Amino acid sequence: MSRWREGGAWDERLKAGVRAREREKMERMRSERYRRQLILFGEEGQKRLRSAKIFVAGAGGLGSASLLYLTAAGIGRIRIADCDTVEESNLNRQILHFHEDIGKQKVISAKEKLERLNPEVDIEILAESITEENVDAIVGDSELIVDAMDNFQARYALNKCAIRKKIPLFHGAVYGFEGQITTIIPERTACLRCIFPKAPSGAGETPVVGATCGVVASIQVSEVLKYLLRRGSLLENRMLWWDGLNARIEEISLRRNPKCEDCGGGALRAFRL
Ligand SMILES: [Zn+2]
Repeated sequence: MSRWREGGAWDERLKAGVRAREREKMERMRSERYRRQLILFGEEGQKRLRSAKIFVAGAGGLGSASLLYLTAAGIGRIRIADCDTVEESNLNRQILHFHEDIGKQKVISAKEKLERLNPEVDIEILAESITEENVDAIVGDSELIVDAMDNFQARYALNKCAIRKKIPLFHGAVYGFEGQITTIIPERTACLRCIFPKAPSGAGETPVVGATCGVVASIQVSEVLKYLLRRGSLLENRMLWWDGLNARIEEISLRRNPKCEDCGGGALRAFRL
């Protein structure tokens, strides 16, 4: 009996030693992996990123680029939803998916690549389309939403969900060489419905240059990092308009619509009066 106890204690010491060595190895890996951003963010900032739980809606053109940078930066948990499978015509811009992934679920293809890039990040995937009915459950306990969608129906559902949960929505959209980005903070800024009361009409297939997705997604990720780290000034009530063909950026001022049917600006104001 005493031998068993001794053996058990020895096992425990051995396991504790292994755990301590693993922790040490992990810390060494982290300080090396994130060296260039630790200079800016510090250990505390990096810890903040590691504790973050975020949601990226879409693993297409915008999602591919933003997911790579968010994973590389060391966000703790990234949940991704996309119901599509990889098609050949996606590959000019959806850089997370490769030729051999054609026919595969985009979320599975995305998870495989992202885990290879940074095994420390917890990648959760949902092969579902985003609707008014399921959006709250899909977003779950995420503390922010990255809009990497390609249609306004899903975007409006995300907008309402962000307002209900009082979490920010990082909007991005592309068309050809052009792109737009804004950061929506419920109760502080114009919401997506204030900016676009009706979905912009588009006939036929949307033209997209892959590099435009890179520009827009990179700005969205910069906004997410700034928000999490409480650094700089966000694109609040401002929209950046990227005109890639002429290499120009314009800034458009935004204002809440007091009659907005989604963010209730009108209702709130009437109540206060
Ligand atoms: Zn609104």
